[in-house]
Amino acid sequence: MLKDKVAIVTGASKGIGRAIAINFAKEGAKVVLNYRSDDNGAQEVLKEIENSGGVAFLHKGDVSDFSVAEDLIKFCIEKFSRIDILVNNAGITRDTLLLRMKEEDFDSVINVNLKGSFNCVKHASSFMIKQKYGKILNISSVIGLIGNIGQINYAASKAGIIGMTKSLAKELGSRGINVNAIAPGFIETDMTSVLEDKTKETIMSHIPLKRMGSVEDVSNLAVFLASDLASYITGQVITVDGGMVM
Ligand code: NAP
Repeated sequence: MLKDKVAIVTGASKGIGRAIAINFAKEGAKVVLNYRSDDNGAQEVLKEIENSGGVAFLHKGDVSDFSVAEDLIKFCIEKFSRIDILVNNAGITRDTLLLRMKEEDFDSVINVNLKGSFNCVKHASSFMIKQKYGKILNISSVIGLIGNIGQINYAASKAGIIGMTKSLAKELGSRGINVNAIAPGFIETDMTSVLEDKTKETIMSHIPLKRMGSVEDVSNLAVFLASDLASYITGQVITVDGGMVM
């Protein structure tokens, strides 16, 4: 579905970003795999793609840094001379109640999740506008829709991503660029493995499909939204959450 498309996936060394990158490559896309620190994880993703005949390059860097994001986009252009798909997936949590939340906990989550997405979009969009073609996928969260105790920083960042997605869809629609957000629910990754069993049980009781989501549940939607099958879909927030939020 993505034959010869060029994609950047941020936060691709593990979890949802890894699955999206691998699924994109399986569908024929060439992929730039951005990550911040997990060299082994990133190398594994690269090998998996190359071993199945795909093309990918690693880019190590912190997307919350404006100039690093610029470097990421330039790196993609140098390698492939275009950028068709940008997936803003890199994300972190610093969960704690407001009373205990430090300024740094708030700033770091906003800087990576929201500002990092802005940084990449800012630099990628000029190339997409010139191409008159682009697909931007922003990974939000159901928490950005409904909020959560202990996650005011994370919820604000993910709600911010939704506002940014809709505004960008309006700004860039006439340039042939689709911008959508995916709002995953409770997906099995390192991010959710730290949750206590009791918290997991409570979340599970609110999921009609009675299971956690897999990274593939999310990456399958990402493939569809990044493909031309979704060319009349823009400005949408699509949940992948087993029915948790409806
Ligand atoms: P994860 O397993 O913790 O992976 C996070 C990825 O983001 C890693 O590759 C990490 O790279 C990268 N990253 C973190 N900060 C970065 C930065 N400043 N610059 C570049 N890369 C950075 O998380 P996940 O569960 O796959 O989550 C992926 C996205 O989905 C996040 O945006 C998250 O908020 C969202 N999400 C997840 C869930 C869930 O249930 N898991 C639910 C809703 C939304 P390194 O490890 O190499 O540093």
